[in-house]
Amino acid sequence: MTENINVFYKEAGIDEDVYLLGEKILFKLKDKFARIDEISEINQLKVLNAFKECNVSEACLNGTTGYGYNDLGRETLEKVYAKVFKTEDALVRPQITCGTHALALALMSNLRPGDELLSPVGKPYDTMEEVIGIRPSVGSLKEYGISYRQVDLLENDAFDYEGIKNAINEKTKLVTIQRSKGYQTRKSFSVDEIAHLISYIKSVKPEVKVMVDNCYGEFTEVHEPSEYGADMVVGSLIKNPGGGLAPIGGYIAGTKECVENAAYRLTSPGLGREVGASLNALRSLYQGFFLAPTVTASALKGALFAAGIYELLGFKCVPSMNETRHDIIQAVTFNNPDMLIAFCEGIQSASPIDAFVRPEPSDMPGYDSKVIMAAGTFISGASIELSADGPLRSPYAAYFQGGITWPHVKYGILSTVQQLKNKHLITV
Ligand SMILES: *Cc1c(COP(=O)(O)O)cnc(C)c1O
Repeated sequence: MTENINVFYKEAGIDEDVYLLGEKILFKLKDKFARIDEISEINQLKVLNAFKECNVSEACLNGTTGYGYNDLGRETLEKVYAKVFKTEDALVRPQITCGTHALALALMSNLRPGDELLSPVGKPYDTMEEVIGIRPSVGSLKEYGISYRQVDLLENDAFDYEGIKNAINEKTKLVTIQRSKGYQTRKSFSVDEIAHLISYIKSVKPEVKVMVDNCYGEFTEVHEPSEYGADMVVGSLIKNPGGGLAPIGGYIAGTKECVENAAYRLTSPGLGREVGASLNALRSLYQGFFLAPTVTASALKGALFAAGIYELLGFKCVPSMNETRHDIIQAVTFNNPDMLIAFCEGIQSASPIDAFVRPEPSDMPGYDSKVIMAAGTFISGASIELSADGPLRSPYAAYFQGGITWPHVKYGILSTVQQLKNKHLITV
């Protein structure tokens, strides 16, 4: 029996013309979806193989309490991460509270007073400005006598190699490269581009350490920056590698030295990685990592679908539908606050949790303008789940990401179009 699927969409509040617009785009995206599936297939094998090689057992799924000495599950999970990211070591902990914390930890533990941090890719993610001390903040790197230098991207988002060479000096100890665009409309970098940049930086100063902010990039390609000279890759478990199941956490995968430094900073000098009870988090951390390649694929399809629809409707999308993707974020530039708000309302109304809530712009810690956020998620604030946000400032871009199943993301995007239509902001 063939079902007429648009009848079900109609019942779910999606008009036929909106549904058909989606189908038109999906037809054009067939080959790109096939490539996304292929990447997830390769990454699934990579992750499964790491589980097998590390002898993940049922006992690993049980956690510890108190000091957490001899936590088999925690130690094995760290080996699994190291294997997948092809690094010497990894720190994967529920005590790392979010991505910003993981990044701050990696920086603070590997820099000392008098050292300089360099960003060769322009301004870092908003919350990192306070970590570094670009915006004055209690406990910033700047307060500890660690200086910062930045080389902006050239007009076409190319690396300014000459400027980078000039910026590297005797104090430069660590270089931070942000893979994903974050709240900017620059492009995100491919692993290939990052590999070139790392090798250039190390040719100028071989002993410099390179950290890649890997947030949103994991499993979008078949290789990770840690395979090309990054000393550390760092990210959040409520994004891609948590697979939508991890309730909290962050990871730092990298060289033995960098990871050890981070462990002594996370807990305490002398204690390092030997403490840190995993409580009841391990089962979801393992299962989420196992699901992460396919979950990331769903999110990638959603991002592509959003670009397809909104480009057809005449909005500027970064990346565009025809560009290759290096993270799960889709920016849609509305140049209009009402449209940005309607987009977020559409996402919220399509969420499994809190669908009845209307999102409103508000002040957020770590961000310097009002932000509107739509997220009806199982894990609070998890942006690997269907979510959208955007700072209420020109050019009023919505940053859309996540979606742990493809049918859900599809419905979410169609709901945004429907909401813009309902508010007479667009005609379909
Ligand atoms: C999300 C993100 C962060 C910060 O992570 P939080 O978990 O929100 O603290 C840092 N950098 C990039 C590129 C991100 O996408």
